[in-house]
Amino acid sequence: MQKRDFYEVLGVSRNASQEEIKKAYRKLAVKHHPDKNPDNPEAEKKFKECAEAYEVLRDPEKRQRYDRFGHEGMRSSDFGGFRDVDDIFSAFGDIFGGGFGGSIFEEVFGGARGGRSGRAHRHPGSQGSDLKIRLKLSLEEIANGVKKKLKLKKYVTCSTCSGSGASNSDGFRRCEYCNGSGEIRQVSRSVFGQFVNITPCSNCGGSGKILSSPCKTCDGEGRKQKEETVEVSVPAGVSEGQYISLRSQGNAGRRGGPAGDLIVVIEEEEHEKFIRKGDDIIYDLLVSYPTAVMGGDVEVPTLNGRVRLKVDPGTQSGRILRMRGKGIQHLNGGGAGDQLVRINVWVPKKVNAQEKELIKELEKHQNIHPKEKDQTENRSFFDKIKDVFN
Ligand SMILES: [Zn+2]
Ligand SMILES: [Zn+2]
Repeated sequence: MQKRDFYEVLGVSRNASQEEIKKAYRKLAVKHHPDKNPDNPEAEKKFKECAEAYEVLRDPEKRQRYDRFGHEGMRSSDFGGFRDVDDIFSAFGDIFGGGFGGSIFEEVFGGARGGRSGRAHRHPGSQGSDLKIRLKLSLEEIANGVKKKLKLKKYVTCSTCSGSGASNSDGFRRCEYCNGSGEIRQVSRSVFGQFVNITPCSNCGGSGKILSSPCKTCDGEGRKQKEETVEVSVPAGVSEGQYISLRSQGNAGRRGGPAGDLIVVIEEEEHEKFIRKGDDIIYDLLVSYPTAVMGGDVEVPTLNGRVRLKVDPGTQSGRILRMRGKGIQHLNGGGAGDQLVRINVWVPKKVNAQEKELIKELEKHQNIHPKEKDQTENRSFFDKIKDVFN
């Protein structure tokens, strides 16, 4: 495939300043970032492409060579030898993590991608990426905590080569670029004196070794994609958007590099009966007019099965009954929220002739009609309810 012009890739002019190039790259990298575009090979390709372009154009010497000779003028060591997105992250950390004080990511994003650059540079492999998955939970599961089995596709360490990527123990040769030291020393002079920049070798990624005889099972990657089941234990009381980090359960690293984390993001399913408010549960209960007037026992659902609830005589619509401890367990222990049962007096939509007669009879009694003072009482009552729900 024809390589696109690096300036075109970053969308800058040939005489763009370093600052403009950096800005353009930052914008594109954010846009095509794999965390933002999961399972999108097109975005991944673009992400890789602009990283490669920036890799050259950020360096005045490489840029000059590129300007004069184009792609042909570039040595393979001008790039990190990126093979996939993982490698871009790790290569940046590995190649630039040393002498220049931080990776491209740190330089451009101010250390936004924490944990990537602080690693040991000498590891022959590279860190696996974090895996992020969403886990939908019902309120019942959240209320009591739950163990879930998650099926996911991820990179696991190749069992043939135990992750080394080499077909046998002499599968590596010494890197000729750095003579096996894994470092490149550059001496520069300025008015302040002489500086020695030590950077990890880009040819071997700082390991000092080059893979010469790759493992056949994994093509030298040291890892393979596989479907796996992971069990995650969700504590009671979690809520939407919170996440659980499972250390080293993400993608295995390349060539024996450390694995990334598995990040399980909690999603809360909408419940057909309950509304969650913090750790309290709100339930709207319809009661008949006779029950509201004379009181009685009713059955209400809770997150842990049905329970009986006593309704006092003379219970108004809108009254809230608190069932202590029937809500969601607090995330940090120490009890649970309540279930708040909001009473609503139910009015039948249709009545037959006999029922109509009875209601007409009832209507004749003064006591069943609200008075002025009831109106006022009711208002202050509703004000109190507002406080409960806000
Ligand atoms: Zn292998
Ligand atoms: Zn080297």
